[in-house]
Amino acid sequence: MKKLIVITGASSGIGATIAKTFADLGHPTLLLARRLEPMLELKLVNSMAMSVDVTDLKAVETAIRKAEQVYGPTDLLVNCAGVMLLGHSDTQSFSEWEHMLDVNIKGVLTGTHVVLHDMITAQRGTIINISSIAGRKTFDQHSVYCGSKFAVHAITEAMRKEVSASNVRFITIAPGVVETPLLSHTTDATIISDYTQWKQTIESGLDPQIVADCVRFAYQQPQSVCIREIVLAKTKQAD
Ligand code: NDP
Repeated sequence: MKKLIVITGASSGIGATIAKTFADLGHPTLLLARRLEPMLELKLVNSMAMSVDVTDLKAVETAIRKAEQVYGPTDLLVNCAGVMLLGHSDTQSFSEWEHMLDVNIKGVLTGTHVVLHDMITAQRGTIINISSIAGRKTFDQHSVYCGSKFAVHAITEAMRKEVSASNVRFITIAPGVVETPLLSHTTDATIISDYTQWKQTIESGLDPQIVADCVRFAYQQPQSVCIREIVLAKTKQAD
């Protein structure tokens, strides 16, 4: 049997596409997100879906251990769950800032905390964190989102270096705009409208399958090869 792949944020967009991609390759998968229904609708074989808030360490641990009892140790954790709440620094609510930091940073750490020790003991395993081009450079109205994604870049690279001698891989995937519902949670209508108009200038975002293919490519390299980072965007996306 192929090895277990755990994907957070698997109820939508990039995470759902990654889940389908690995299920099609014959891997058992554990799908995690708060909404169970869209994960069940994917109808993947050899798959478990559990409603979990990624900021809840206990819930993430319980879910992963359940899947591991059936499918064996986690070989790949893809931390994809995330929220993008764009806003002006002087008017955006503190709760939106807090929510982004909780999901985008703490939500990457929970699953990592659950699987890393076993990966180090086994001297194999891969953790892929979905960051963003907004984790490499800043954009207007993206201040705290950028902060959360800069943190993902920093944590991934620092952990990669620290555990490299254990043969465990940490990989950052940093996409530009991808065609998903990500923007829909932003509450400022003007920002949504400006962003949507700008997206038309690059003829829409990337197909999520392109990002899933990057995850697959990085994972399928021999365990001795670590593609540390992949940065990708529409050719017409200048920034
Ligand atoms: P979607 O909105 O389509 O998906 C976001 C996913 O995150 C959903 O499955 C959602 O599930 C999950 N999620 C959000 N909050 C939580 C939570 N507290 N606990 C568990 N799951 C949660 O957006 P994308 O697919 O675009 O986003 C995926 C990742 O890609 C994010 O990290 C995003 O920052 C990153 N990214 C996206 C880009 C884009 O342009 N779309 C560009 C660059 C990076 P549910 O609501 O069911 O909990």
